[in-house]
Parts: sequence; structure tokens; C-alpha cells
Amino acid sequence: MHPFSLERPRDLASAIALRAQAGRDDAPAEYIAGGTDMVQLLQEQVRRPERLVSLAGLLDNSIEAGSQGLRFGAAATMAEVAAHLAVLEQFPLIIEALLNSASPQVRNQATMGGNLLQRPRCPYFRDVGYSACNRRAPGSGCSAMRGENRRHAVLGTSDHCIATHASDLAVAHFEVVRALRSRASRHRDGRD
Ligand SMILES: Cc1cc2nc3c(=O)[nH]c(=O)nc-3n(C[C@H](O)[C@H](O)[C@H](O)COP(=O)(O)OP(=O)(O)OC[C@H]3O[C@@H](n4cnc5c(N)ncnc54)[C@H](O)[C@@H]3O)c2cc1C
Ligand code: SF4
Repeated sequence: MHPFSLERPRDLASAIALRAQAGRDDAPAEYIAGGTDMVQLLQEQVRRPERLVSLAGLLDNSIEAGSQGLRFGAAATMAEVAAHLAVLEQFPLIIEALLNSASPQVRNQATMGGNLLQRPRCPYFRDVGYSACNRRAPGSGCSAMRGENRRHAVLGTSDHCIATHASDLAVAHFEVVRALRSRASRHRDGRD
């Protein structure tokens, strides 16, 4: 593991002032929340930041589910959201996606913010033995396009990357938004 220092800012303004940026080699620092993805990235030397900025205790961890929709703070854990009764009643797809993700131990530690911002699961991204990966080293190319890519994306790709989004929650969230839009449009057209 590349040596790094750990910053523990007292408030959010101090954390933001440290200018952490996800996945930027030229960034002065990177954030760490629950650490379930970041620690793997550090161990495998996919990320080699000089400084890590801990978000522990700085972010909102509330969860609200009601007629206005679902709102959760970035620091709410996957386990807390998955156990929330109102979320279960109104957004069962979100619960299903969370409970099918990782393990209970990981879900207890992992935050919702970190889940949505976790880095790609593409094996070429995760293995620094492959030099070509535009997500890890911008401009280096994409090993997956010429390599093993049966589990990569077929929709929403670019000329630079064909990785799927790593988060199951993100896929479920997209589906919930699509269903709500479709219901709103049926209601508007008088078909509901
Ligand atoms: C064994 C294992 C199995 C897994 N299986 C699944 C699975 O089946 N489905 C699935 O969806 N996920 C899976 N995951 C991924 C897991 O959900 C994520 O590791 C976790 O949600 C990340 O949350 P964290 O709080 O630990 O984030 P961290 O590891 O601390 O951070 C992850 C990334 O997000 C950035 N970040 C975190 N919080 C913030 C914030 N508030 N603002 C800006 N940047 C932020 C960090 O800089 C880092 O780049 C698995 C993980 C493990 C270890
Ligand atoms: S699909 Fe290509 S660019 Fe994207 S993460 Fe994988 S190797 Fe990197």
C-alpha cells in the first residue's frame, strides 16, 4: 500500500477545503466514508492518494420516505436504509437491491453515498497489471473493448469506457424514477 496521511476534519467546510476529488491522480486528496471500497482500492494500489479525508461524523444520516418520495443522507448505511419500515412499504425495489448487495457485514459499514460513488467493478480497472484503462489512467485506452467484456455494458457506453455502474442501488433507483415518470405521464394524459 502506498503511504498516505489521514485527515479528520472537524466539520464539512474544513473537509471541502481539503479539495478531495474521487479518482483524480492530480487531486491533493480523496474522501473515505465507510472505507469498504476505498480500502480495497488502496490495498490493490488502484488508488495511491497522498492524503485521505475522513467523512466520519460529518454528513447527514437521516432517512425519510413519504408521499414526497425517498430522501436519505449520504452517511446513512446500506443496512439502515434496508431496515427502514417506510422505505420497505413504499420502495420495496430499493430494499431488494440493497439486500442483494454485498454481505450484512459490508452493509453495516457501507454508506449510501459511498455505494453510489464506488469505483467501477471492471476487472481491468481493478488490476493495475493492465495499463490501458481510461477510468484509472485517462487517455490510456480501454482494455475491456478488446478483451473479456461479456459482462460489460451494451447501453449507455462511450468511446472511452464500457463499464457498467457498480451499484445495484443505482440501477434500482433508475428504475424507480422511470416508473414514477411513467405514472406521472399517464396521470397527466388522463389514463390513470
Ligand atoms: C465484498 C464486497 C461485496 C460487494 N458487493 C456489492 C454488490 O453486490 N452490489 C453493490 O452495489 N455494491 C457492492 N459492494 C460495494 C459496496 O456497496 C461499496 O463498497 C460501499 O457501498 C461503499 O461505501 P463506503 O461508505 O464504504 O465508501 P468508501 O469505500 O469509503 O468510498 C467509496 C468511494 O466513494 C467516495 N465517497 C464516499 N462517500 C463520499 C461522499 N459522501 N462524497 C464524495 N465521495 C464519496 C470515496 O472517495 C471512494 O472513491 C461490495 C463491496 C464489498 C467489499
Ligand atoms: S471498461 Fe475500459 S475504461 Fe472502463 S473501467 Fe474497464 S478497462 Fe477501464
